[in-house]
Amino acid sequence: MSDFTFQVLSDNVKLLKTSASKYAVYGVLIAVAAIIIATCLVSYYEQGRVTLDGIIQAQKTNVALWLLNLAPFGFAVWGQYVSSIMAFKAGAMIVDQTTELRAQVVASERKAKHEITHDRLTNLPNRVLMEDRLEQAIHVAQRERRPMAVLTLDVDQFKEINDTLGRDHGDRLLRQVAARLTATVKDTETISRSGGDEFTIILPSITNESDAIETSANIGNALKAAFDIFDSTLDVRASIGIALYPEHGMSADDLLQHAEVAMYVAKKEKCGYALYDPRQEDKSPRRVTLAGELRQALERNQLFLKYQPKLNVRQKKFSEVEVLARWQHPRHGVIEPDEFIPLAERTGLIKLLTSWVLKNGIRQVAEWARQDINLNISVNISAQDLHDDDLYDRITGLLAANQLRAEQLVLEVTESTIMVDKERAMSMLNRLAATGIKISVDDFGTGYSSLAHLSALPISEVKIDKSFVMDMLENSTHAKIVRAIIDLGHNLGMKVVAEGVDDPSIYRRLAGLGCDGLQGHYLGKPLYADEIPGWLSTGLQKVV
Ligand code: C2E
Ligand code: MG
Ligand code: MG
Repeated sequence: MSDFTFQVLSDNVKLLKTSASKYAVYGVLIAVAAIIIATCLVSYYEQGRVTLDGIIQAQKTNVALWLLNLAPFGFAVWGQYVSSIMAFKAGAMIVDQTTELRAQVVASERKAKHEITHDRLTNLPNRVLMEDRLEQAIHVAQRERRPMAVLTLDVDQFKEINDTLGRDHGDRLLRQVAARLTATVKDTETISRSGGDEFTIILPSITNESDAIETSANIGNALKAAFDIFDSTLDVRASIGIALYPEHGMSADDLLQHAEVAMYVAKKEKCGYALYDPRQEDKSPRRVTLAGELRQALERNQLFLKYQPKLNVRQKKFSEVEVLARWQHPRHGVIEPDEFIPLAERTGLIKLLTSWVLKNGIRQVAEWARQDINLNISVNISAQDLHDDDLYDRITGLLAANQLRAEQLVLEVTESTIMVDKERAMSMLNRLAATGIKISVDDFGTGYSSLAHLSALPISEVKIDKSFVMDMLENSTHAKIVRAIIDLGHNLGMKVVAEGVDDPSIYRRLAGLGCDGLQGHYLGKPLYADEIPGWLSTGLQKVV
């Protein structure tokens, strides 16, 4: 019997010792009533009437009444006994159920923790857990004054395999690669899938660089045998970059970045693996170094926001702005989001970036509201944000803190963002939309989904991608696509917005076709926050 069970049961018994149970009280009352009635009856039979003397006489002389007088004690003991048995049984039932509930809570906590820290496809640790383990490994290596290594592995030509054979093949290949990696490394070494076709392996205890090179060669050999994926046989190679602690970096960020630089060299030189060499930095593409710098950029506030006005055609009013992020890089100048957003998505920094954009964007709209400038705000959201369970609390918290109504916020998601994991995205979008937040499908037409496909989602707006809009006057196919999206969107009860409106004739054509919202350089380029109030008063001249 566990301590907990024992405690519950002995508490029940203790309780019964200090107070009378209902059964005991009823038993005693019935017994006392029976004694009174019996005594009166005896008195009546012996003296022809009921008198006090007769009652006293009956009690003194009638042996049956003496026995009956013992009944209240019997009932009291019986009542307490029955109640204690019932209390015991109820207690035991509660203990059983509590134990079961506890087991369920522990199991679901364990499952949730596993999901947060593991990659769904391969069941390997994800980037979050890997970074944590890497920090720990660095800590231990530092304390014990010995080296350790980080390997970054990228599957060669994975994109081609994925594009030509399809995602099912790609997914299955990644699972098989993960299985072979797991079988090759030691139990103490962590393998993680850090995104796409990239794996990271932490070797926490090596004696020198030859150990890391040997592991890399072993991994290369393990991947040599062909992969059977459905009915295809694939020859796959990988490129591995090696960075050593402390030689190539003392922090997790530095080691990961340097392993990636080395991996890029291995890929370029088709040599399987390469050890980091600082001289390689010049040869590595800008994206590799930028990826490593992005975290610092966020911490040092090197990012800033621009706001592009969205015209409400019917109201002839700019009632919304789209927030667009920029990076003021100390050496490269302003870097556009098309370059750094994919990096943020690949390195898992996007959640941090989205939080930053939401916080600053929402604050800015609240600030305008204080100046009597009322604007809605639209924010671009990535797939990883939608899979982040904290997103809901973060957004609703920010809206409340800045006294913004949910209806003032539009979240722009692309079709592919939704399709990465439709069930999960749908549940998050439903929760958000239920508060009044609007959901817009960005860059519509560039993905593979149909509008009907998306109609199950709580979508209030579609944005036609600028690639169809910008040349719609010359390209009749694009003009037809734009028209079809407007009609279908309206039939499904959605608003239709066009982006990329960069000249007056496109503006007139789209307004004529019944577009609800328009956005583009002709109507307004992305502006700094302090340019918006002045611009709002002059920008409408083109519209009226
Ligand atoms: P998007 O969400 O489709 O944003 C519209 C993009 O089209 C913006 O580019 C905008 O400047 C540009 N644009 C609008 N009108 C015109 C026009 O008339 N002509 C031309 N040539 N371009 C026009 P931007 O700011 O470079 O952003 C590019 C993409 O980067 C965005 O596309 C969005 O997908 C992504 N992005 C920007 N900021 C963020 C962010 O904070 N978070 C996320 N997740 N993505 C962002
Ligand atoms: Mg957008
Ligand atoms: Mg767009």
